[in-house]
Amino acid sequence: GDFPIETDTLVIGAGPGGYVAAIRAAQLGQKVTIVEKGTLGGVCLNVGCIPSKALIAAGHRYEVAKHSDDIGITAENVKVDFTKVQEWKAGVVKKLTGGVEGLLKGNKVDIVRGEAYFVDANTLRVMDENSAQTYTFKHAIIATGSRPIELPAFKYTKRVLDSTGALALTEIPKKIVVIGGGYIGTELSGAYANFGTQVTILEGTDEILNGFEKQMSALVKRNLKKKGAEIITKALAKSVQETEDSVTVTYEVKGEVKTVEADYVFVMVGRKPNTDELGLEQVGIEMAERGIIKIDKQCRTSVSNIFAIGDVVEGPPLAHKASYEGKIAAEVIAGHPAQIDYLAIPAVVFSDPELASVGYSEAQAKAEGIEVIAAKFPFAANGRALALNTTDGFVKLVTRKEDGLVIGAQIAGPSASDMIAELGLAIEAGMTAEDLAMTIHAHPTLGEITMEAAEVAMGSPIHII
Ligand code: FAD
Repeated sequence: GDFPIETDTLVIGAGPGGYVAAIRAAQLGQKVTIVEKGTLGGVCLNVGCIPSKALIAAGHRYEVAKHSDDIGITAENVKVDFTKVQEWKAGVVKKLTGGVEGLLKGNKVDIVRGEAYFVDANTLRVMDENSAQTYTFKHAIIATGSRPIELPAFKYTKRVLDSTGALALTEIPKKIVVIGGGYIGTELSGAYANFGTQVTILEGTDEILNGFEKQMSALVKRNLKKKGAEIITKALAKSVQETEDSVTVTYEVKGEVKTVEADYVFVMVGRKPNTDELGLEQVGIEMAERGIIKIDKQCRTSVSNIFAIGDVVEGPPLAHKASYEGKIAAEVIAGHPAQIDYLAIPAVVFSDPELASVGYSEAQAKAEGIEVIAAKFPFAANGRALALNTTDGFVKLVTRKEDGLVIGAQIAGPSASDMIAELGLAIEAGMTAEDLAMTIHAHPTLGEITMEAAEVAMGSPIHII
C-alpha cells in the first residue's frame, strides 16, 4: 500500500458547492484538499449555469438585432456564425474555471485529480487512470453534485441529448423537441428559438415552469409562442425513433397518441444526485429517498465529521444554494455557530422575460395562515422599461399585513434576475414596505419598479392609480 496523506478537511467535488467550501475552510485556517474527477467548477461552470447563460445571451443579441424595426432600426444580413458563438462560450467557461483554479491555489488548497471513494469515516481513496492514493481526514464535505436523469425510453445518443449535449451543438438545429418544461428545458428552448429553431416543448403537467405563479409563466409562454414555439402540456413522451439525421418522438396527450419529428430531442426531466458510487454505505451515512443525503441544519450527515452540500442534499438544485451551504459547512467545521436558513434563497429562470422569486409567494403565505398584502407594479408604468422597449412584466411584493414586513417577492421582467437581489436583502434585513418605499432609487431605473410596488403595498403609489 501507499502512505496515506493527512489533511484536515477533504472536499469531494469542485463545483460551486465544493470549491467555495474549500476556499472558506482554508480561509478559516484548515489544511484543505479538494478532489475532482472532472473539471474544476463542476456542472455550473462547465455545462450548466454559465454556458447556458452565454448561449441565451448570444441568442438574445441575435433576436434583438433582427427585430428592432419597431424602434426604427432595421438591420440587414444579420447572421450567426454558430461555431464562433460556441468558441466564445467555451472561452467564457475557460476563463471562469481557470479563475477557480487560481483561487484554490491562492488559498493554498491542494487540488487532487481523480475519483474519490470512502473507505471509512476518516479515510478516502482517490483513483485516477494509473494510480491510487489514500487520504485521511478529520472532516469531509461531500459536494459531488448531480447528473441528468435518463429516461429508459430515451437513452442518450447522438440525437437524444441531455443538457450537456444540448449546449454543445455545433450547428443551429432546424427543429427540436424538448421533453420537460422545467427551468432548464424552458431556458434552452428560448435560446434556440431566438436562433430560429422551431421548438416543440412536451410538458407532463398542465403548465411549464410550474414552480412559479401562473401569471409569471404565462408571460414566458406567450413570448415563446410568439417565436413560433409549440407548447404541449399534459403530454407524456413515450418513445423515440432515430434515423441518421432525425428523430421521431411519440407522445400521448388527452388519450391520443401523436408523433413529432425533429433534428434532436432534448431530455430535460430533472437531475439525480451523484451518491451511488461514493462508498457511502461503507461509512453508514443515512440517506433520504432518491439518493439524497440526509443532513441537519449545519450540513452535517448522520456521521458527525462528514458534511454534505449542494445538489446531493435536499432543496432546490441551484448553484447559489450549493455555495451558501459550502460556506456554512466550512464555518461549522471551523467551530463557528453557523446554520442554514433558506428563507431568502432566490430562484431565477433566465427565460424571456426573466422570472425570479424569493421568500414567500402570496399563496404560500396564505397556506401558512399569514395575512398578507400582495402589491404589484407593472414594468409598463416605468420610464426606464419604456425607454428600453421592454415593458412585459411586474414586481409583486408580499408583505405581512400587520406590520408591512417584506416576506417575499416575485418578479417577471427584464433584469428580474438582478432585481431580486434587493428583495432578498430586504427579507434578510427584516425590512418593511416603508423601508423600501423610502429608499431613494435612481431615476430612471428598473429598481424604481420595486420602490413603487412598496408604495402600492402602503396604499399610496405615485405613478399608478
Ligand atoms: P456540481 O456542480 O455538480 O459539481 C460536482 C462536482 O463533483 C463535479 O465536478 C463532479 O465531477 C465531481 N465529482 C462527482 N463525484 C466525484 C467523485 N466521486 N470524486 C471526485 N469528484 C467527483 N443553477 C443556478 O443556480 N443557476 C442557473 O442558472 C443554473 N443553470 C443551470 C443550467 C443547466 C443546463 C444545468 C444542468 C444546471 C444549472 N444550474 C443552475 C444548476 C447548477 O449547475 C447546480 O445546482 C450546481 O452545479 C450544483 O453544485 P454542486 O457543487 O452541488 O455540484
